[in-house]
Amino acid sequence: MSSFSVVQNRARRCGLALVWQAGLAYIRSMTIRSDILVAGAGAAGLTTAIALAEAGFSVTVAGGLDTRRNGRTVALFEASLRLYRSLGLWERLEPLSNPLRRIRLIDDTTNPFRLPPVELEAAEIGLPAFGANIENAALVEALAAIAREMSGVRLMEGMLGDYATSDDEIEGSLSTGERLAASLLVGADGRGSKVRAYADVGAREWRYKQTAITVLLRHERPHRSTSSEFHTRSGPCTLVPMRPLDESSDGLRHRSSLVWLMSPEEGERRMALSDAALAEEVEAQVHSLHGRMALEGPRGAFPMAGLACDRLVDERIALVADAGHYYPPIGAQGLNLGLRDVAQLVDSLEDHGRTDPGGRNALADYDKRRRGDVALRTLAVDAMNRSLLIHALPVDILRSAGLAAMACIGPLRRALMHEGVAPPGRLPRLMREDRRFAS
Ligand SMILES: Cc1cc2nc3c(=O)[nH]c(=O)nc-3n(C[C@H](O)[C@H](O)[C@H](O)COP(=O)(O)OP(=O)(O)OC[C@H]3O[C@@H](n4cnc5c(N)ncnc54)[C@H](O)[C@@H]3O)c2cc1C
Repeated sequence: MSSFSVVQNRARRCGLALVWQAGLAYIRSMTIRSDILVAGAGAAGLTTAIALAEAGFSVTVAGGLDTRRNGRTVALFEASLRLYRSLGLWERLEPLSNPLRRIRLIDDTTNPFRLPPVELEAAEIGLPAFGANIENAALVEALAAIAREMSGVRLMEGMLGDYATSDDEIEGSLSTGERLAASLLVGADGRGSKVRAYADVGAREWRYKQTAITVLLRHERPHRSTSSEFHTRSGPCTLVPMRPLDESSDGLRHRSSLVWLMSPEEGERRMALSDAALAEEVEAQVHSLHGRMALEGPRGAFPMAGLACDRLVDERIALVADAGHYYPPIGAQGLNLGLRDVAQLVDSLEDHGRTDPGGRNALADYDKRRRGDVALRTLAVDAMNRSLLIHALPVDILRSAGLAAMACIGPLRRALMHEGVAPPGRLPRLMREDRRFAS
């Protein structure tokens, strides 16, 4: 080959390499980068984005905003309210909620040893209320509005997937076409988490032969800000207090949300009932506690399942809330547990992830500090649920003995109340005290 063609070939190869490099640089420049990418814009994902932005990280949160009305509410307990107060958000959320001052537990099984109802008062542990009940869709709408107002948060609507990890970052594609990259990917994409599926995390899922029906109800008599939990043979049926209407023409101005666990067959049958017929069945189930009832808006039906993961982290990935653990809505622990993940993630990143939020130290700290709490709640809720479903005398006796101990032994009752609403021990900083950020 002549020296001229050698030079010509080299130039051609060099040119191609340059074009290739320029192409890569162009694609990289098209990628939207931030310190942290949050997959999922539900209550957990939006709270994560807001809290991490307040801690000084740049955050992109990507997800489909699910604000469908399906009668689903969340009872948020004291530690979760402290988180929102610390972030300066509670003023925006409180008007949407109703306080939970009392919890009434009613054994409504055929257990021959069943006790009279047990009533727990927040005042007994020095709180005005255990927490507050808020419609899920209203919470998501309010958090999304707050996130949109924040300079440190970019909220992008669409589904995220097609992940790839390199040494110093993790990338994902949005269904609208954008490529997003960050040092850390937070999986807050709920039960069917794609982030969990991508991560090398062992997960065990199990199902219960139960469906939860949710719906908002209007009723005749006031609820006294009391949540009433009827423990039936198919699971709990709970009325959770909501803000009353200013007025109503039919005398039904008081409001509660319903979470009613039942067999899948009964769930199917009840979902097919007319509004009036379902309201009648609810009224019968709760022994007309709040008088006459009517349904307010659409219903939801949720098959009951549980999930436990070996760990909540993988390379440049952290899972929070339902993406990392879930169980049936007994004792209203689900999102409360998820928000403790969020608050701990903020601590771990502030303490160990300032320069590299997705680095090993920060993620190991997060995983270590969340394991015990998640495992304990998953076990406790599972045991409580199964104790209702198993028709066996020894189990009935045990359950009644537990309830009797709670009713009669003040220190035990107070310890359990603390455990349920703001577990003592090492709570993350945002949940320890009111820590208001400058706006
Ligand atoms: C009937 C019922 C009653 C409950 N009551 C209570 C209660 O009183 N108190 C309590 O603390 N907990 C309660 N829970 C549990 C609580 O609702 C959940 O723990 C909570 O909603 C979890 O929030 P999340 O943001 O993790 O998940 P989700 O609310 O499921 O949000 C996940 C979000 O991610 C989005 N998403 C999914 N895939 C992707 C993707 N690939 N890319 C981007 N986004 C994606 C979804 O569209 C969704 O917006 C209840 C649960 C049920 C079923």
